[in-house]
Amino acid sequence: MDLKEHIRAVPDFPKPGILFYDISTLLMHAEAWQETVRRLTDEVAPYKPDMLVGIESRGFLTAAPLALEMGIGFFMVRKKGKLPGETLEYSYGLEYGSDTIEMQADAVTPGQRVIVLDDLLATGGTMDASIQLLRRAGAEVAAAACIIELTFLEGRSKVDVPVHTLVSYD
Ligand code: IMP
Repeated sequence: MDLKEHIRAVPDFPKPGILFYDISTLLMHAEAWQETVRRLTDEVAPYKPDMLVGIESRGFLTAAPLALEMGIGFFMVRKKGKLPGETLEYSYGLEYGSDTIEMQADAVTPGQRVIVLDDLLATGGTMDASIQLLRRAGAEVAAAACIIELTFLEGRSKVDVPVHTLVSYD
C-alpha cells in the first residue's frame, strides 16, 4: 500500500508558501492507518523499548496505538503548562523566539529505554528538544520515529539517535 495516497498536502498552511502534509486523511482511512501502525511497529520493536513517547499533538495519535500494539506504556511531551503535577522542562530556540516543552517528572525511571514518536520530521528542532528533555529525566533514548520526513530540511542531521520514517518528500 502506498501511504502517500492517503496523506494530503495543503498549500499555504499555516502561512503562505508552506506546504503542509496532513495526516488527517490517513487517520480517516482504517486500512491505511492500520498499515501505518504496523510499519511503525516493525521499525521500533527491534529496539525493545520500555516506553514510547508522543510529542504534542499528532505525536500522541502516533504513539498511542503503537504502545497498545507493542504492549508497553507511553507518555506525553507537551507544551508548557498543560501537564499536572511535578514537571521537567526544556527550552529551545526557534527562528523567532523560543519554546518550552514539558514532561511529568515521574514518567520515566533513570535508564529506561524510550522511543520518541511524532507525525512528521521537518527541521528536527522539535524532536531534538524532546530528546534533550528525556535525557534530562534520565531516559535512554534509543531511537526516534515519524510517519513523514521532509528530507530537504535535513532534520535527521539535528537528531543524534537513529531516525526511522515511513514516507519522505523532497
Ligand atoms: P520541526 O521541529 O521543524 O522538525 O517540525 C516538526 C513539528 O512541526 C512536528 O511536531 C510536526 O507535527 C510539525 N510540522 C511541521 N511541518 C508540518 C507539516 O507539514 N505537517 C504536519 N506537521 C508539521
